Amino acid sequence: MVGNRQPEVNIGLVGHVDHGKTTLVQALSGSWTDQHSEEMKRGISIRLGYADATFRHCEGLDEPECYTVEEECPDGSESEPLRTVSFVDAPGHETLMATMLSGASLMDGAVLVVSANEPVPQPQTEEHLMALDIIGIDNIVIAQNKVDLVDADTARDNYDQIKEFVEGTVAEDAPIVPVSAGQEVNLDLLIQAIEEEIPTPDRDPDADPRMHVARSFDINKPGTSAKDLAGGVLGGSLVEGELEVGDEIEIRPGREVEEGGQTEYVPIETTIRSLQAGGETVDTVTPGGLLGVGTGLDPSLTKGDALAGRMAGPPGTLPPTWNEFTMEVDLLERVVGADQGETVDEISTGEPLMMTVGTATTVGSVTSAREGECEVRLKRPVAAEPGTKIAINRRIGARWRLIGLGTLTD
Ligand code: GDP
Ligand code: MG
Repeated sequence: MVGNRQPEVNIGLVGHVDHGKTTLVQALSGSWTDQHSEEMKRGISIRLGYADATFRHCEGLDEPECYTVEEECPDGSESEPLRTVSFVDAPGHETLMATMLSGASLMDGAVLVVSANEPVPQPQTEEHLMALDIIGIDNIVIAQNKVDLVDADTARDNYDQIKEFVEGTVAEDAPIVPVSAGQEVNLDLLIQAIEEEIPTPDRDPDADPRMHVARSFDINKPGTSAKDLAGGVLGGSLVEGELEVGDEIEIRPGREVEEGGQTEYVPIETTIRSLQAGGETVDTVTPGGLLGVGTGLDPSLTKGDALAGRMAGPPGTLPPTWNEFTMEVDLLERVVGADQGETVDEISTGEPLMMTVGTATTVGSVTSAREGECEVRLKRPVAAEPGTKIAINRRIGARWRLIGLGTLTD
């Protein structure tokens, strides 16, 4: 088989529960659970659900038939790989928008899956589109799924509902591709739309590497003797630059240290001992896809996502750590996902907010609220560049709801 190629672009799969996101990812990426580094992969996938797919091209066929994920073309010749993409399958049942948003900070584009046999929009269809809008992900393809379940008139009517629903949003001009993920119908057309609408971003190979750590863990079986212990593992995505085995990295904000009743965060430095990307062990990684970094850290430091939400990069190059910050605030008109379309009240001093900053989710309390701006003190600090976009959630009833977008100022 033609070797696994490293994924070069991250594509989010979003949409309402049961509309077929996972089925679509499986149809495009084959059996993705039986790849190498099972433990590491499974560990990272459960929460963010990454799966890689290599899009391929068959010589001599017209569009869209020339697009495939199969290695063999209908005439028996071998297909040419075009590029490998990494799908981030956002969990639709997830009531916490944070998970979706922390995935979204790593997305270069998105496929919005909408079921053809239900009225549009269903609650999470709306919620997820709003999140894409807020984060500014505008490379979008809409997959109108389950067309095998409806007749032509219903499909057309549903198509019109989708068109109307996306009007005025970031997905206004997105192509709508009728597919059946279950029956594998029109996947070639979908691949073509993704190739055209979601290009691999231009990246500067000389930029300082920046990794968003989404997960961290200890891959040792219980009872492993000290001399056989593998170092702590970080899982996440590289958004800029390149990382190489042997590189020194710093992790910020590092680990929690208690001193004289005070909690502090101390940056951690370590060496990269191994790298995994595209399901393979590699020497260098470039941005895109899911990345596993084996480090020299004591695995007790990385166990159970202890370092999730951190940033990693060369020592001395990482953005500052914030225990409190000021953000400009753009509130939504309505609470996303709420049944009654409640309006969003102004943020008030003293209220708790949950904020997603990169892959970090942190709760903070508002120390000062003014129009269009507020200051928050965080329970746990985050490392972020000024200008970073922040998803702001407020507790409404039993759950956190997205109410607006913040921009970190200072
Ligand atoms: P998710 O919650 O969006 O990830 O949805 P799943 O991929 O888990 O699919 C939900 C259900 O719909 C499953 O029972 C699938 O087998 C089914 N399903 C997904 N795609 C199709 C399709 O194109 N046609 C039909 N008939 N069923 C589908
Ligand atoms: Mg699913």
